[in-house]
Amino acid sequence: MKRMLMVAAAAVSCFAQADTYPSAKPISIVVPFAAGGPTDRVARDLAEALRKPLGGATVVVDNAAGAGGSIGANKVAKAAPDGYTLLLHHIAMATMPTLVRNIPFKVDSDFEYLGMINDVPMTLIGKPSLPANNYKDLSTWIGANKGKINLGNAGVGSASHLCGLLFQNAIQVDMTTVPYKGTAPAMTDLIGGQIDLMCDQTTNTTSQIEGKKVHAYAVTTAKRLTTPALKDLPTLQESGLKGFEVTIWHGLYAPKGTPADIQAKLNAALKAALKDPEFIKKQEGLGAVVVTDKRVEPAEHKKFVAAEIAKWSPVIKAAGVYAD
Ligand code: ASP
Repeated sequence: MKRMLMVAAAAVSCFAQADTYPSAKPISIVVPFAAGGPTDRVARDLAEALRKPLGGATVVVDNAAGAGGSIGANKVAKAAPDGYTLLLHHIAMATMPTLVRNIPFKVDSDFEYLGMINDVPMTLIGKPSLPANNYKDLSTWIGANKGKINLGNAGVGSASHLCGLLFQNAIQVDMTTVPYKGTAPAMTDLIGGQIDLMCDQTTNTTSQIEGKKVHAYAVTTAKRLTTPALKDLPTLQESGLKGFEVTIWHGLYAPKGTPADIQAKLNAALKAALKDPEFIKKQEGLGAVVVTDKRVEPAEHKKFVAAEIAKWSPVIKAAGVYAD
């Protein structure tokens, strides 16, 4: 009897929670990388776009950076499943399980998938003092500087880590990787000349390329981009790296056990945010492509992540690029 009452009370409180959600407190979107970087950029634009469809709720960004994005992901995996702590993450949700041994959470069972956000290309960029204005000259410079080249990234398991490892593997040159808590601080050091090269999302590199603060050598997509600042960049494939293709994507997640009504509210708000013309304009200006309805469905996104795990796992293993 006592147990039945407890179950009934839990159900009532769950309905009450979903009814009043999200009025109790601000919603926090955890970004597992440093502020000012490419993932942070997407999260801040999304937080703004989510406000209206969530009835004017306050949506804040919490940067829980480090360990290639696994600290922030772990924070959300262990957070209260009440809809007030969400995770915005990228392709690492699919590559971390293979790329990093011993991650302290399970990407398939510790989260509720709320939907996909966008696809984002990456770019290969270099410090401004590099004596190479195009990919061909960069190849010559790399050949002449083997053993001395530093490549920045956002830590083991991050997108820049994956892209950098695939790049080294494709050109058969080892570089010294320098990990940061995100590619925002790495970008500062690249511009300052402390590191030589980096592979990073266009949501971070577009304005620096436009402002001629860094050299831009290529995009990592199979096709050239249409974004004005990036449209003249060759692909790595046409630069001679056969089959090279990395596209980053972002998704939104909640801790496992978040009530279904709250998940539904969040997915509806995400769909509305992804149709917000202001959000679309900001993202397109940074080379990102905002996804549309079917891909925003939670089940569809979960299927997509599983397919990405299946796609990347053999590539990472064959390249021998996974790390502890
Ligand atoms: N671009 C980073 C990465 O390589 C993440 C970031 O700083 O947003 O995964």
